Amino acid sequence: MAEATTIPDSGRKYDLGFARWVYENVNGGDKLSMCMQCGACSGSCPIGTEMDHGPRKLFMMIRAGMKDEVLSSNTMYNCTSCYRCVVRCPRGVPVTYILQDLGRVAARAGYPQATATDNARFAKAFYWSTRAFGRTDERLFTFKYYLSFGIGKAIKMAMANMPIALSLLKTKRMHIGAPHKIKGTAELRKILDKAEEIEKAKQGF
Ligand code: SF4
Ligand code: SF4
Repeated sequence: MAEATTIPDSGRKYDLGFARWVYENVNGGDKLSMCMQCGACSGSCPIGTEMDHGPRKLFMMIRAGMKDEVLSSNTMYNCTSCYRCVVRCPRGVPVTYILQDLGRVAARAGYPQATATDNARFAKAFYWSTRAFGRTDERLFTFKYYLSFGIGKAIKMAMANMPIALSLLKTKRMHIGAPHKIKGTAELRKILDKAEEIEKAKQGF
């Protein structure tokens, strides 16, 4: 896990200091020097077509010092952590860990791709439901996600997806009534608060 270190900014488009910073501060970044650019990771990735740069290209861009392009990429947020790339990498590069930590670095640095994408909105709504109920309530967390676009768009999105909701209700995959909760949600929140506190201290927020 990266420590509280400021990302260097030379103001140059190709900033080799960024590659050094990634090697030294990003989880798994020290293994990037092992990458031989074979492309097995990108070729194995089931979600590669949804990424603006596959992992192989992103690693090349890190080496080239393309800080802004790397940290503005949607690659880290579209990765599903399936680990196919890790299993297939012939050089043992922990691709998934590197992507996860780069996403965290970009979020901390305020890159909009990290905070304003659909994935980021969805993750926030998911966390909200988990924190509130100890589980996902499909109805509430979906509507919370829709609401992140504003009330007008939320209603339109809800109406557009109504047939799916009705099918889920019909097949008893979604229930009507109060949200189901796990026992001990108060204890769960204390655990999450503590985890957040530890993470903030580690990251120097
Ligand atoms: S599979 Fe491994 S060695 Fe090949 S490009 Fe991806 S990270 Fe580099
Ligand atoms: S872990 Fe991420 S980058 Fe690797 S194959 Fe799966 S989705 Fe693609």
